[in-house]
Amino acid sequence: MRMHLGGEWVDKSQKIEVLSPYDGSVVDTVPKGDANDIETALQTAERGAKIMAQMTGFERYEILHKVSEMMAERSEELARIITMEEGKILAEGRIEATRAAEIIALSAEEAKRLYGEVIPLEGAPGVEGKFGFTVRVPCGIVAGISPFNFPLHLVCHKAGPAIAAGNAIILKPATDTPLSALKLVELFVEAGTPPEAIQCVTGAGSEIGDALCSDSRVRKITFTGSRDIGEHICHVAGLKRVTMELGSNSPLIVMPDADPEKVAKAATMSGFSNAGQVCISTQRVIAHDRIYGDFLDAFKSEVEQISIGDPLDEPTKMGPMIRESDASRVSEWIQDAVNGGAKLLTGGEKHDQFVTPAILSDVKPDMQISCDEVFGPAVGVTRVNDIDEAITLANDTNYGLSAAIFTENINWAMRFVREVDSGNLMVNWGTQWRADLMPYGGLKESGMGKEGPKYAVEEMTETKMAIFHLS
Ligand code: NAP
Repeated sequence: MRMHLGGEWVDKSQKIEVLSPYDGSVVDTVPKGDANDIETALQTAERGAKIMAQMTGFERYEILHKVSEMMAERSEELARIITMEEGKILAEGRIEATRAAEIIALSAEEAKRLYGEVIPLEGAPGVEGKFGFTVRVPCGIVAGISPFNFPLHLVCHKAGPAIAAGNAIILKPATDTPLSALKLVELFVEAGTPPEAIQCVTGAGSEIGDALCSDSRVRKITFTGSRDIGEHICHVAGLKRVTMELGSNSPLIVMPDADPEKVAKAATMSGFSNAGQVCISTQRVIAHDRIYGDFLDAFKSEVEQISIGDPLDEPTKMGPMIRESDASRVSEWIQDAVNGGAKLLTGGEKHDQFVTPAILSDVKPDMQISCDEVFGPAVGVTRVNDIDEAITLANDTNYGLSAAIFTENINWAMRFVREVDSGNLMVNWGTQWRADLMPYGGLKESGMGKEGPKYAVEEMTETKMAIFHLS
């Protein structure tokens, strides 16, 4: 595919091969963008932002609504692109494509809702004859940088709100998975988005990222990816707004009144979908002593039913990891945990880019498999004796993106909600759950700012305060 730059589709002699994580075959190629291309993108986006600022909310709504309809019509095609470049099973690709269209539909609605506020200034002492109100305006140029694991869905969480808010956006998708983003941009342009207002530059983040993120013409960066790259971007960004959607090692607390079979089903879905490569994957199960054994039995039996193979084959339940180096890293972390005294109950074998779904029990909190982000198909289980210990352990991390508890006890559930430091809190489900309209984002080193079209539009607009001094 070509990249969308300067308002047109552009090719380059230098290419990047997009490889299937399943068999290493070349799915497609994309141009290898460089810092000069970023300059072109910025100059074009300046024009795009001016065009967008002249459009009415209803015009922006109409474009986004059309994009969403086109996405729904081409959902199967989008799902297959996702699966071929990312390696998740087709069933998950289909869910991602459906949700992506919904995000754009939600964004379309937000295009009509850039509300301001009347401020009752006479509430301040001695103030009379003044009329004050706020107006919300687009921030101008948005840079949207996205990771490999949801190559369409997460791009929609950036492009949809940016266009709804009246901005121009420059997308920088992950080098492993740029095809879904390029396909999305095709649909945006076809639906009538001014071509200067949506660009997609393909190329290595390490080579083009700084040119994009440090430039003062960019007024807002919305980044989803790893903690370390996020921190680097914050350093180079300077004085501009940033939203950071970063990683996690999400905990799931299991209290003794929970149903072990129900928890096992949720933990399996939550820990192993997309081969564990989800920012809110359940990584650390913290189970009460009185349910520990029963839960492990049920969990093992569920996890052993996950078949691995070609993600395009319908019966396959789990695909490969994105890169072989990641499969090696996960299997090394599993081995280190075993060497440190954890028990490998099932899985953990590496075959090329696959790691078979692994459960480790007796995991100690200071093991790497517990305290760093695994981002792979391995779940560790640790035993605790009461709710205090469970909450302390859940919080014993620099991350805070998603956390869960299984219990029927409202006091335990409420303590969990109040005391666990996490942006998303699930009671009686696993950590991996998201509705795209909710305010979604992490605490601590899992990031800052919220996504979900309503909230992202807020973060992609500026508030101006106007005061009429009346005679
Ligand atoms: P990553 O390595 O951090 O890459 C994310 C994006 O940043 C890619 O587009 C990458 O480009 C780009 N990038 C790399 N260096 C850059 C630089 N110096 N300046 C600007 N951009 C740069 O993350 P990943 O491996 O793709 O994704 C996995 C991570 O994303 C995990 O930590 C996961 O938890 C996190 N994540 C978080 C959420 C959330 O909502 N909180 C959702 C999904 C994933 P290249 O591909 O060219 O390197």
